[in-house]
Parts: sequence; structure tokens; C-alpha cells
Amino acid sequence: VICPQIMSNELWKTSGHWDNYRDNMSLIGNEATEGEEAHEPTAGLKPMNCPGHCALFASTKHSYRELPLRVAEFSRLHRNERSGTLTGLSRVRAMAQDDAHIYCESADVPAEIERFFAMTAEVYRDLRLSGVKVSVSTRPERFLGEAADWDVAEQALIDCVKNAGFECGIKKGEAAFYAPKVEFDFQDVLGRAWTLSTIQVDMAAPTRFELAYVGRDGQEHRPAMLHRAILGSLERFIAIYLEH
Ligand code: ZN
Repeated sequence: VICPQIMSNELWKTSGHWDNYRDNMSLIGNEATEGEEAHEPTAGLKPMNCPGHCALFASTKHSYRELPLRVAEFSRLHRNERSGTLTGLSRVRAMAQDDAHIYCESADVPAEIERFFAMTAEVYRDLRLSGVKVSVSTRPERFLGEAADWDVAEQALIDCVKNAGFECGIKKGEAAFYAPKVEFDFQDVLGRAWTLSTIQVDMAAPTRFELAYVGRDGQEHRPAMLHRAILGSLERFIAIYLEH
């Protein structure tokens, strides 16, 4: 899919980006002209694809028969990085990710993670990337949702990594504000570690966007949501791969 580049404040408020990620976003509509005070921005350039995909999911009715629903998007993302932090292709203000979001029944989460591990292994093999370390990042200080739910999701990810035959490292407090994640760190020829692939179990978006599907019982249920990328930012990947 290709979702819009600019979306209204309402969407960023619903997704939690307004409270947790606004400083990294390019906002629109807050420019003050002479003699006028700056007002609240009306829209923002998208820094991530997830909110658009949730809005897309919420725009129609879904049945359990359509799940897992996998939505992929490679379009441009914009992040308002401070000028001092920009470096070559590895940290830029506009990028594309090999991004997808998977909406599925909760019971199918482990199987979807397994599929992701298999696809990741295939891509690494084709690109001849070896020496990848796998770890689970746990909740940061500011997070959405309940601590107890995070504990369960973090443990589920650790189990998935171990079941796939990897040793599982722990990165304490390094998850994004909305989801614990599995990270695949590739070590380049200079010994530097780079996170390439990630898969995250979202703890907040399905509820915040009031996502629902009709289950086998005819009742509405909340789908689980996964975020996943294999190479991550393609610009950054090219920088890492060239250097290597
Ligand atoms: Zn996402």
C-alpha cells in the first residue's frame, strides 16, 4: 500500500506519536506570520507507517477469515533529526523502510514471528550476512499500555527466539514506547553492531485505534498487531552493506 505522506494531528494523537514522538516529527501549520502567535500544528509528515496502516485497517469491517492481514509499505518517511546527528546515509531525515504490519489473532502471533524469522534468515543468506546476534528489547521508561501486559509479551518474544534456536540477549529498556521487540544485530567488518531486522508486538495501537474483527463466534475481537522490517531503513542498510 501507499498511505498519505501528510496526515492530521488527530491521527498522531490517536497513535501516541503526538505525546511520545512529536520532537522527531516535521509538523505543519504552526508557522506564525508577523504579528501573530504560533498556533498548534494541524498535521505532520509521517515518521512511521504504522498509524496509516491502522487507519486503513479500521476503515473497513474484517472477518477472522481475512487474518492474518499483512500490509507492506516502502514509501518515504520523514524524521526531524537534529542536524548534529546526521551522518552520511546511516542517519538521514528522509528514508524508506522495508516495512510491514501484520494484523492477526493473538493465538497466531508465535507462528507469524516464526515466518518472519524464516524470511529474515533467507534474506541474510542471499546477502551473505553472517554473525547476527538476536536479542529482545524490553520496555523503556515512557511506555504505552500496562506493565503486566509488557511482561507477558516480552516473555513470549524471548520464547520465540529460543524456539527458533537462537541465543537470546536482553536489551533492557531499549524497546520503542509502543512495543517490546526482537532485534537482529549484524556486526560489520569493523566490528560495529547494527540493528537490521526487528519485529515488535504492539501493546497499544489496536486498542487506541479501536481495531476489531468478527471472530468465529460472531463477536468482535481485538486483533494482535506486529511491526516488522527486515533490512530496516534502506538508506542505512546501503551504508552498512557498502562499508562491510
Ligand atoms: Zn510500525
